[in-house]
Amino acid sequence: MATIRIDGLTKTYATPRGPVNAVDRVSFEVADGETCVLLGPSGCGKTTTLRMINRLVTPTSGKVLIDGRDTDAADPVLLRRTIGYVIQQIGLFPNMTVAGNIGVVPRLLGWDARRIRSRAAELLTMLAMEPKDFLDRYPGELSGGQAQRVGVARALAADPPVLLMDEPFGALDPVNREAIQDEFLRMQHALKKTVLFVSHDIDEAVKMADSIAIFRAGLLEQHAAPDVLLSRPANDFVAGFVGSDRTLKRLRLIQAGEVMVTDLRGPAPGAPTVRATDDLRRVATLFLEHGVESLVCVDDGGNVVGHISRAAVAARLGSARP
Ligand code: ADP
Ligand code: MG
Repeated sequence: MATIRIDGLTKTYATPRGPVNAVDRVSFEVADGETCVLLGPSGCGKTTTLRMINRLVTPTSGKVLIDGRDTDAADPVLLRRTIGYVIQQIGLFPNMTVAGNIGVVPRLLGWDARRIRSRAAELLTMLAMEPKDFLDRYPGELSGGQAQRVGVARALAADPPVLLMDEPFGALDPVNREAIQDEFLRMQHALKKTVLFVSHDIDEAVKMADSIAIFRAGLLEQHAAPDVLLSRPANDFVAGFVGSDRTLKRLRLIQAGEVMVTDLRGPAPGAPTVRATDDLRRVATLFLEHGVESLVCVDDGGNVVGHISRAAVAARLGSARP
């Protein structure tokens, strides 16, 4: 369990041009078990915000509260054991095996060797890596995607309630990136950590986030659920950052079941079929491919549960339900 409250958080650096606020009076909350993506262009203060949460950077002013407790009062070393941290450069120890890397924090906590190895195997399995093939390899024997998975496993080893991830999948090619995003989502669905995830990629943010905090030059411009951010950007900067195809991006956030009408007589015989759990990308594709006005909606067992009209989809896209 962990809720995170950030309250007026500010970091000022002295520069030759005078003081610069890398992070400027930022306030927001992340609920227990949710993923908040910090999004924005390079240099806007995402990493600095993240590193103030685990006290690798000391705030100039403002507070970070985890479960209502001011982290300023905590021992930074103990604090960091309750906060997993994944960075893009991974930082695996090259002279330690995968099992050794994953076991770093558990060893500090005094777990016995068997428990550490079984925890490492459990995490690798969750991340679609076969433990017997990987536990005893060295980082130099891993692909970029595998090394990044080990970085995630290491951060989760001692089961911290909070996970900070700084552009964790940024260095991967698109195919590997999609795969590790999907695995992470599946894992997060089971583990329900409170996650702060830095990205500069709106598509990744929309895919991963329960809420998105969008930054510009140290200022928090908007913090909202992805569908709200895309449908009602707070200002021109946010609208520009999310892109002119923001309606298309919303399609993946809405499931067919949400716009379905439970009327079994609805569609014409032979109308194309979607599953209630499909997102509106598939729905829109079928409307365009078949030139029809409505689709049949089925459950995962293939039973008809309702139908979906073009008008209902248009109406849903015209509104934002937080
Ligand atoms: P992001 O992660 O969004 O790319 P950062 O949080 O790393 O951005 O940096 C925010 C701003 O703070 C940048 O302008 C950066 O140059 C500046 N900055 C970061 N760390 C330092 C530092 N140690 N000293 C001076 N300026 C810094
Ligand atoms: Mg950064």
